[in-house]
Amino acid sequence: MDNVKIERIEWARLTGERPRKAGCNSRLGEHGLHVRPAIARITTFDGVSGIGFSPISREKADTIVGFRLSDAFDAESGVTEEFRMLEYPIWDLVGQLEQKPVYAMLSDTDGDFRAPCYDTSLYIDALHLEDNAEAAALIASEALEGAARGHKAFKIKVGRGAMHMPLDKGTQRDIDVIHAVRDAVGTDATILIDANNGYNLNLTKQVLGGTADANVYWVEEAFHEDARVYSLLKEWLNAEGLETRIADGEGGASPNLVSWAKDGLIDIVQYDIFYPGFSRWLELGPELDAFNVGTAPHHYGGHYGNYVSCHLAAKVERFEFVEWDHATTPGLDDSGYSISEGYVNVPNSPGFGLNLDETPYQKAVEENGFMVCAQR
Ligand SMILES: [Mg+2]
Repeated sequence: MDNVKIERIEWARLTGERPRKAGCNSRLGEHGLHVRPAIARITTFDGVSGIGFSPISREKADTIVGFRLSDAFDAESGVTEEFRMLEYPIWDLVGQLEQKPVYAMLSDTDGDFRAPCYDTSLYIDALHLEDNAEAAALIASEALEGAARGHKAFKIKVGRGAMHMPLDKGTQRDIDVIHAVRDAVGTDATILIDANNGYNLNLTKQVLGGTADANVYWVEEAFHEDARVYSLLKEWLNAEGLETRIADGEGGASPNLVSWAKDGLIDIVQYDIFYPGFSRWLELGPELDAFNVGTAPHHYGGHYGNYVSCHLAAKVERFEFVEWDHATTPGLDDSGYSISEGYVNVPNSPGFGLNLDETPYQKAVEENGFMVCAQR
């Protein structure tokens, strides 16, 4: 690796499509049909490439192209701070050079590898329907589409009463949807709910109390995290005998989040897989393991996070779930990955096991991206 240098950096934003439009969450409008992963490719002077998500600008790429791989990566600590805007292409490249999947570089796992996942597609999709029972049936039918794709865990967006519907009716619809999804997917499946901070303590209690028989595994971003209010929620959950976990940490998370998690107020941490990113998660996940806190990286909207999140599971004992946002992106060949029985089956191929389709990728580089080259 000492003599490996990067000759070329390419970057483009690809456009993919979900199988159906994603509706609202408790605080935003429609998320729509499209995903737009930004994918960079770095290529060595010997013609070996690594690919992956990167937010790198042309200016930055211009300044660093020609860099030595040994300045960007070491086997002990992974990608160095300075090069983390290229952390995915770098891990992928090292995997290509060593002919090893990233999961195998992170653990002793050498053979087949899989990671548990959940279907993250159950948005607030039924606002056009007046009747709560009809709306609940629609979301349940979407859950069955996920089940047909191999999912056994389902995350439902809730908080309809925060702004999209009148509070009472929206909260009741949340409860009806959770029941309808549970009825549709059966008792073995896992149900998660995500309020995107659209509840308060009382509403959280109302919904979890009203769905106690539906066995909700985690409540995500019930309200903006607050140590006092989370401790009251914990007390109430314990008193009610509910095992629902508290998950939080995406978006503008409190700087105290990790210490609150270590204190037992938050059960599962959900920092994003792009920001702070994979390298940060490789440090944080084992740290959370030591406190028996779960790891479940957020990444909605980026598509590419579906795949790389799986590899983190090789390093983190209390890894909970990969967030799976099903989409097809021309240019990004994910054919090595599949879903069955609630798991992502990860390809036993080098790096992250993804490939680029040359024609659509080149087209995107020309249309919206760039390529910079170093002198030999
Ligand atoms: Mg969320």
